[in-house]
Amino acid sequence: MSETLTKFEAVIGLEIHAEMLTQSKMFSGCRVVDSVEAAPNSAVDPLSLGMPGMLPVINRSAVEMAMKVGLALNCEINAYNAFERKNYFYPDLPKGYQITQYAHPVATNGYLDIKGASGETKRVRIRRAHIEEDTGKLTHLSDGRSLVDYNRAGVPLLEIVSEPDMRTAEEALAFATKIRQILRYLDVNTGDMEKGIIRFEANISIRPLGSDALNTRVEVKNLNSFRSLTSSIEYQIAQQIETVEGGSVVEQATLGWDEDRKQTYSQRSKEDAHDYRYFPEPDLPPLIIGPDWIDRVREQLVELPDSKLRRYLTELGLPSYDAEVIVEDRPVAEWFDAAVAAGGDPKTVANWLINNLFALMNEHKQTIENSRVSPQGMVDLLALIEAETINKNTAKSVLVDMFLSGQTAKTIVEEKGLAQISDDGPILTIIQTIIDDNPQMVANYLGGKDKLRGWFMGQVMRELRGKGNPALVNRLLDQKLGELKKR
Ligand code: ADP
Ligand code: MG
Repeated sequence: MSETLTKFEAVIGLEIHAEMLTQSKMFSGCRVVDSVEAAPNSAVDPLSLGMPGMLPVINRSAVEMAMKVGLALNCEINAYNAFERKNYFYPDLPKGYQITQYAHPVATNGYLDIKGASGETKRVRIRRAHIEEDTGKLTHLSDGRSLVDYNRAGVPLLEIVSEPDMRTAEEALAFATKIRQILRYLDVNTGDMEKGIIRFEANISIRPLGSDALNTRVEVKNLNSFRSLTSSIEYQIAQQIETVEGGSVVEQATLGWDEDRKQTYSQRSKEDAHDYRYFPEPDLPPLIIGPDWIDRVREQLVELPDSKLRRYLTELGLPSYDAEVIVEDRPVAEWFDAAVAAGGDPKTVANWLINNLFALMNEHKQTIENSRVSPQGMVDLLALIEAETINKNTAKSVLVDMFLSGQTAKTIVEEKGLAQISDDGPILTIIQTIIDDNPQMVANYLGGKDKLRGWFMGQVMRELRGKGNPALVNRLLDQKLGELKKR
């Protein structure tokens, strides 16, 4: 039997729900607490509990965070914003409806550039980002009872929706990673997927390669790690290809992801799709975002990862690996920027940060923010090497000391007497002693064992307790050994 196997490509769109790190809830003054740490139902108010007669008030700070994200994702920020009620009945939603933006979202028509498989830039369009409120949390017990915690009910949420522009799980991962990084840079979200502070949903369909059809898709929810995101997409692509090649059609469905079994499972099918009966929220007036407000928010935007990366590569001449590692996390990038601003040589600072400070931070489970090595402290340490007060090896141990004690490099060098010996006199005396004490080594060296030069260097440095200025020790050693050869 001969058959022509069709080649398929995947079509993937992501939806992201990100809690916004505001002090209070989306439509009331009720404080927002860590939904995992805080005691259940300890941060609720009549509005979060859906008591009748309560009136919502829009949280300005949440709106500004949403605007920031919209701007960072190259979106248009819409002047006319409206809130609507999305109605459904479920115990985690005490009002019986969720206030959300439907027809008039805060941001539309943006894009985010990601790095494709072969390093090329790939543009993923952003359809929209809208403001809504989170629901409470249900915990289902094994005896059949369920517990509900309303701490999270009413927490400001931003939903970001991409166009179906991704073609592989890797592209979806690159996009998701970058969205998360931007939200963290903007201080809008912690990026914690396990706690559900940021949640990704993947929409997946397939089509014959070369077609531009948008075929029936499935939606996968419950993805609480990047690994689940990629595995579930890969699983679904394989599953759908198998379905189509077997002569069946892909059915629209909402699926969950079982990370242990590494497979999707059905949550609901098209038949039980909800009719949300969206209608305008009568208790909230339209929200108008004027150009002045947008300008003010734009001015508060921090420098974003892409711009930092470009600057590090072109202006500071960092190797791309170094630049990418530093940009990864905003506090690290800001630490680096501060060190460069304090006069540090960018490449040297990057080296010491990546090769030495990171190792210390990992070993002692610290972040750059609570590390005791300040940007200025690092620059001062590097200045001691530059001035030949200490050599690089000594500097490494001084850095450890700085990291552990919080003292300055200068104090450590002074108190421990680590300053480099840069006078000819004492170095020459030590070289002479070593030559005198090791006649056999000298004879071997003169007999042609050139490698023994390294042994002499090691002995001299040991006698100098590592404090010899290496360039000077090298020069003086060559001078002495040269004299021996001439004899
Ligand atoms: P809904 O609002 O019903 O969830 P949307 O049309 O708004 O549906 O799309 C939601 C997400 O699904 C978006 O991220 C979009 O890019 C993606 N999507 C839409 N059509 C497809 C498709 N045929 N294949 C894969 N993803 C799709
Ligand atoms: Mg959806």
